[in-house]
Amino acid sequence: MDDLKQDYQQLADHLEEVSHLSGVMGVLHWDQEVIMPSGGGGARAHQLATLSGVIHEKSTDTKVGETIRKLAHAGSPQFSEVEWRNIQEAQRDFERETKVPKSLVQEIAELSSRGHEVWVKARQENSFKDFAPVLSKFIDLKKQYAHHIDPNTPEYEVNLDDFERGATIEQLDPLFEGLKAELIPLIKQIAESDHKPDGSILEGKFPIEKQEALGKQISTDMGFCFDQGRMDVAVHPFCGGGHPTDVRITTRYRDDDFIESLYAVIHETGHGLYEQGRPKEWGNLPVAESLTMGIHESQSLFWERMIAQSKSFARRYQPLFSETFPNPLKRVSADALFRAINISKPSFIRVEADEVTYPLHVILRYEIEKGLFDGSMAVDDLPEIWNGKMKKYLGICPPSDAKGVLQDVHWSSGLFGYFPSYTLGAMYACQFFQALKLQIPNVEELVERGDFATIRAWLRDNIHSKGRLYSTSELVQQVTGQPLSADVFIRYLNEKYSEIYQLN
Ligand code: ZN
Repeated sequence: MDDLKQDYQQLADHLEEVSHLSGVMGVLHWDQEVIMPSGGGGARAHQLATLSGVIHEKSTDTKVGETIRKLAHAGSPQFSEVEWRNIQEAQRDFERETKVPKSLVQEIAELSSRGHEVWVKARQENSFKDFAPVLSKFIDLKKQYAHHIDPNTPEYEVNLDDFERGATIEQLDPLFEGLKAELIPLIKQIAESDHKPDGSILEGKFPIEKQEALGKQISTDMGFCFDQGRMDVAVHPFCGGGHPTDVRITTRYRDDDFIESLYAVIHETGHGLYEQGRPKEWGNLPVAESLTMGIHESQSLFWERMIAQSKSFARRYQPLFSETFPNPLKRVSADALFRAINISKPSFIRVEADEVTYPLHVILRYEIEKGLFDGSMAVDDLPEIWNGKMKKYLGICPPSDAKGVLQDVHWSSGLFGYFPSYTLGAMYACQFFQALKLQIPNVEELVERGDFATIRAWLRDNIHSKGRLYSTSELVQQVTGQPLSADVFIRYLNEKYSEIYQLN
C-alpha cells in the first residue's frame, strides 16, 4: 500500500513537471504571437522544438511507463476519484506518445512545416493541384498514425479522438444529418425573407483606444480577472498563457468596425473564464486540465452567442455603446442593435460565418475528411466536391479555390478531425444555456442588469471546476439531464431567426 502511494507520488511529480514545461511553452507561444520582434522567428522555432523534444523525452521515459502500468494494474478502488483520473489520463497520453514510431512522428512534423508553405503559395496562386500531393501524403501518414494507436477503430475516428475525446462517427453522423435537415431550409427561408436587419446602422469610425477600453470593460463585467490575466493584440485572436493564474487573451482591431473586435474579446474571455475557473486545488495535474476542444469552444460560444448576441445584452449595453461611439450609435435602438448583430447570410469563408450557416461549413468539411479517410473520395476531386456541397448546403458557389477548398490552414498541418469540435461546441453551449435557464429562470433579467456573477458561478460549479473528472458525455448528461442532441440547438435557431426575419 505504501508502495503504491509512493509510486503515485512519483507519477504526480513527473506530471507536474511536464505541466510546468508546457506552461513555459504556452508563454513562449503567446510571446511569439504578440510581442516577439519578427527577426526572432528562427531562434524561437529552435527553442520551441527543443522544449517539445524535452517534454516528449520525459513523457516517454520507460520508468514512467512502468509506474503507470503498476498503478493502473492496482485498480481504481486503491485511489481517490481524482487520483484515478490522473492515472488514466497519464496512461492514455503515454500510450499515444509511445505507440507511434519515431520515424512516423518525424515525417508528420516535417510535412507539417513544408505543407504549410506549399499551402500558403497554392492559396495565393489559387492552384489546388499544387497542394493536392501534400494532402494525399497527409491522409496516408495520418492513416498509418491511427493504425499504430488503435488498429480496430476507423482511422478517421482515431484522429477525431485527438481533438474531441470520445466523439465517434456513429455519434456525429445522426447529429449532423439532423442539423442539415433543418438548417438548409432555414437558411433558404432567411435568404428569401423581406425583413432583413439593417447592418449599415453600425457603420462608422471607431477609435481603437475607445474600442480597447470598451472590450476591457465588458471582459471585466463578465468576470475575467485581470490580476491573473491580460488582454493584448494579435493577428488571430486566441486565448493562451501558461497557467490558470496567468491567462492571456488577444483580439485585433479595425477602425471601421467595433463589433468584430468586441465579439472576439467576448469569445476569448469565455475561453479565459474556463481557464481561470479550472480546479486549482487538484494541482498542475491532468485532472485539472480543460476537458476537450469542443467543451472549451462551448464556453467561448456560450458567452459570445447565448449571452452577447441576445436581446437582453443589447438592452444592457446599447447605452454604453452609444456613450462610447455617439456617432452612429446614438441613433441605434437596442432592438435594431440586436437585429444588426444577428444578421445571417451564406458566405464562402467559414471564419466569417454566422451561427446559422457555420454548422454547414463544418459538416461539409467533416464529410470530406471522412470520405478521404474511408476512400470514398479522391483528393483530386475535392474542388468539385467542395463547390457542389456549398451549392447544396448554402446555395452559393465559391468564385475560386482560394475562397473554397483552399481557405483553411488546418489540412496543411495535418489537422484532420479538428473541425467538428467547433459545431459540437455550439451545440453544447446551447444545451448548457437551456439547462441554465431551467435552473435560473430570470437569467435574461440578470443579463439586462449586467449581473453576470450568477451565470459565471453556475458555469464554474457545473463545468469549469470539473476539469477532466468526467467524460464529455457524462458531463453533458449531468449538467443538462440528457445526452447531446441536435434538437435543442435547432429549436433555438428556429425560434430566434424566425422572429428576426419574421418567418411564418
Ligand atoms: Zn474559440
